[in-house]
Amino acid sequence: MAGSRVTVLGSLNTDISVPVPHLPGPGETVLAAGAASIGTGGKGANQAVAAARLGAATRMVGCCGDDEFGGRLRDALAAEGIDVAGLRTVPGAASGLALITVDPAGENVIAVAPGANGLAGEVEVAAAFSAPCDVLVLSAEIPVAVVAAALHRANAVALGGEGTGWKGEGGAVAWGGEGRGWKGGGGAVARGGEKRVRTVLNLAPVPEGADRLLAARPDWLVVNAHEAGVLLGAEAADVAQAQAMAAQLAAGEAGPGAGAGSPAGPGAGPGNRHVVITLGAAGAVLARSAVTAAIGGFSVPAVDTVGAGDAFVGALAVALAAGLDPTEAVRAACAAGATATTRRGAQDGLPRPADVLAATGFRWPEIAD
Ligand code: ADP
Repeated sequence: MAGSRVTVLGSLNTDISVPVPHLPGPGETVLAAGAASIGTGGKGANQAVAAARLGAATRMVGCCGDDEFGGRLRDALAAEGIDVAGLRTVPGAASGLALITVDPAGENVIAVAPGANGLAGEVEVAAAFSAPCDVLVLSAEIPVAVVAAALHRANAVALGGEGTGWKGEGGAVAWGGEGRGWKGGGGAVARGGEKRVRTVLNLAPVPEGADRLLAARPDWLVVNAHEAGVLLGAEAADVAQAQAMAAQLAAGEAGPGAGAGSPAGPGAGPGNRHVVITLGAAGAVLARSAVTAAIGGFSVPAVDTVGAGDAFVGALAVALAAGLDPTEAVRAACAAGATATTRRGAQDGLPRPADVLAATGFRWPEIAD
């Protein structure tokens, strides 16, 4: 298999998790049933760890605070072999923090303080495009304007607006053969002049102004069943309905939940955007234009579904970057998502290829360095 280079532009959080006998009501203090655990998380960071463990050369771009948590977040990613040069420590800012209470049934109540994640801006967009990659992963725990800017910039490269002539590796830049060269400023991401970066937008959670992101036409849109329901007004009752909803989103339709209205905006309309709706144990559906497919889930003994979606998105990015076709890439992502549910914890539970094979029988493709 080809090499796989994935850049993740997204959030990083510290997860402080407290097991409680019952979830606290307003004004109530509940004594924990056990010790609190402190872990590294955030959608972006989780997706980056998933991609790195599954073989991609991975870069993480985002913001953390200059507090103790920020240092831990950075170190945890670096320990996974992830390039953290694009991680900005914002002076005076607090790092993103999630306070999680979990009851014995696994039900939880979570409060998230975005902290430095909310300060991501133009610097991060430039950093995301400062080195070549095959797939750029975006999720919605950073400001919508930043995600939109990244999508527009990727599209501009696709149209040749910023040149398609990137031939450089590790900073060396050569001009393209057809006179459309890289214009500098960290703008080009296409590799060897023949490939461009593909964007995977994980609309999680569905933000205010999601319509702007849909109108920016990511190559891949990934949402879970709940998020698809928010976008289209009602959750799918079964796989067939999910397929119909994915087709609707691929055609550029979104309901009031997406923001300003339906259809999703001037950039919307029939196109070749890929839309995936993940369906937990039932797997996922994939739509491309009017063609849809259901990809069945892998049967596994699930113990903790936290992190399954992040494993899915990270894995999808690796598989696409490595050259798998869309259906195979979604199948590979389902195998990784299923495997993540067999282990506890968000980042801790993210699988490596051997884990995927052991849990699902799916042989993860060999990825060249
Ligand atoms: P999220 O974690 O965002 O809510 P899902 O629950 O849909 O997303 O999970 C993402 C993917 O992980 C699914 O498409 C599926 O492939 C896999 N997955 C999740 N839960 C299970 C499960 N119980 N059994 C098998 N696969 C699962």
